[in-house]
Amino acid sequence: MNNWKNSLKFAKELDSVDPLRKFRDRFYFPTFLNKKIIYFTGNSLGLQPKSTKDYIQQELDDWAKWGVEGHFHAKKPWMPYHEFLTEKAAKIVGAQPNEVVITHSLTTNLHLLMVSFYQPTKEKFKILCEKKAFPSDQYALQSQVKFHGFDPQEAIIEIGPREGEHTIREEDIIQEIQANGDSLAMIMIGGVNYFTGQVFPMKNITEAGHKVNAKVGFDLAHAAGNIPMELHNWNVDFAAWCGYKYLNSGPGGVSGLFIHERHVQNTELKRFAGWWGHDKSDRFKMPDEFKPMKTAEAWQLSNAPVISMAAHLASLDIFDEIGMHNLRAKSKQLTAYQEFVIQDINNRNSSFNLEIITPSNPEDRGCQLSIVAHGQGKTLFEKLSSEGIVTDWREPNVIRIAPVPLYNSYEDVYLFGEILERSMDD
Ligand SMILES: *Cc1c(COP(=O)(O)O)cnc(C)c1O
Repeated sequence: MNNWKNSLKFAKELDSVDPLRKFRDRFYFPTFLNKKIIYFTGNSLGLQPKSTKDYIQQELDDWAKWGVEGHFHAKKPWMPYHEFLTEKAAKIVGAQPNEVVITHSLTTNLHLLMVSFYQPTKEKFKILCEKKAFPSDQYALQSQVKFHGFDPQEAIIEIGPREGEHTIREEDIIQEIQANGDSLAMIMIGGVNYFTGQVFPMKNITEAGHKVNAKVGFDLAHAAGNIPMELHNWNVDFAAWCGYKYLNSGPGGVSGLFIHERHVQNTELKRFAGWWGHDKSDRFKMPDEFKPMKTAEAWQLSNAPVISMAAHLASLDIFDEIGMHNLRAKSKQLTAYQEFVIQDINNRNSSFNLEIITPSNPEDRGCQLSIVAHGQGKTLFEKLSSEGIVTDWREPNVIRIAPVPLYNSYEDVYLFGEILERSMDD
């Protein structure tokens, strides 16, 4: 957009016509510094909605008033509590309600899903994942492979960027899937890479995986609440995400999982079972034999952690009010403005060498930008922090920033640039 300006006045003008600007006031911004904070780490821990307290207080009050009877008599009865979240979460990832359940934590869910969808044989046992996947995912994959008696070195294929590039080309992913077709059992990739912010072509990866008869799953930790998805229409086999990053459900908050309709109806599918996955109609007759529900709920092991879910519901209600497509419209513009501001300060200062390694095509990224500050060191990060900017720093010199459309403003984006410019070493 060539009529954009890198100025406070212009940023404020963009804020004044932002249809989502009122939502900023619905969140608490950290107060640990004695100055205005620019919070750019919603990709790590989303901010607390001001409504969260009321949602949790409701459950504390009902617990005080009802004790165990709260399972039936709480304002939102605890027995089916997870059901209050299902439809709203399903909309966020583009799924049918019978394909989604909010339960457990992310890595736990990944394991439970792999119990069902990683069924290796002697010939078909390999897993394709992205290079530099989030460490927890790497450990989960390695341990699954070993659990089945295979060697991770042989069984795990990592696909990375080409020499000198930062993001992974779609053609390379597809080629790798085809080349390993006979031995490939499963593909497990992030929906959005946590390090570069690259959005992977989930629809095409799923299609290519199915062509070689591999199961396809995605870790959506950095995708859920960040980009719209259509997991059902894309025919994805399974997916999981956490609730505490873009979905603002508090530290360690509950996770969500997706299992495509065609699998949830298959009661023969292998799985680890617990009582909350058992057929609701006779769960409390305590039968000896497990009879799974024919929805994603069948993967629930335990009764719902209601306090944590109440926090999640507070945030899902905000997403529901806005809708992912409205959020994405602002997100694209906000991040494009951030990109413009960074490029502007880079162009104005001949000694600067700021390289954005996140894809420049808005379709290939979410809200995050990852910046390599060539020639700069950790003192840059320390200066930014002391000026009230909360970002993520990775050695040796990568800054990850997430201008989150729910609560970040164009003014935040402008101020980040201004502070970055004066914090750089010449
Ligand atoms: C944040 C994140 C996790 C964290 O897993 P938890 O089980 O919630 O601790 C795992 N994988 C990815 C890709 C992440 O971004």
